Amino acid sequence: PTGILSSEEPFCRICHEGGGVGELLSPCECAGTLAMVHRGCLEHWLTASNSSRCELCHHQYSLERLPKPLTEWLGSPAMQHQRRTLCGDVICFLFITPLASLSGWLCVQGAMDLYYSNSMEAVGLMVLTLALFTIYCFWTVVSLRYHSHLFRTWKQTDQRVRLQIPLPARTMHTHHTLNLSFLSKDTRKETVV
Ligand SMILES: [Zn+2]
Ligand SMILES: [Zn+2]
Repeated sequence: PTGILSSEEPFCRICHEGGGVGELLSPCECAGTLAMVHRGCLEHWLTASNSSRCELCHHQYSLERLPKPLTEWLGSPAMQHQRRTLCGDVICFLFITPLASLSGWLCVQGAMDLYYSNSMEAVGLMVLTLALFTIYCFWTVVSLRYHSHLFRTWKQTDQRVRLQIPLPARTMHTHHTLNLSFLSKDTRKETVV
């Protein structure tokens, strides 16, 4: 907190704490008091805002979007409603599939038996079978689309990001190959901007 007033000590533009709390970086074109930011603070902000640019200088960060672990979906209390509806639909599917197959088969058998004696009734049974089958397929497709949509939405929201920036100088010489890749990335960034 004392670092806020003293201009010579750099502080994070998000949490206003100094370098003691975490590694301070200058990842974008922002200068002055807005230049420095903690890696954790920035990653948290980018995750929460679902953005990949600096809100002030519009610098495009190079980000790695980390895939969410499935355990997070299974364990999250916010997902409880989704988990319940998915479970319900899966049970429904397991219950309805044999039932629909059986009634469909019975309808077809009945229609075949009636074909010579009462062709009108046979046609009616076939139409009924077709209608049943259509409803079954429609319900299955709609449920699948609904759940995959929910799942994709969950995957994309609050997706954790990792900022890809050059490592601080003290660790650079230990990762010589990384060092080179970062240098090439930096020159590319400069030509784009
Ligand atoms: Zn911070
Ligand atoms: Zn900036």
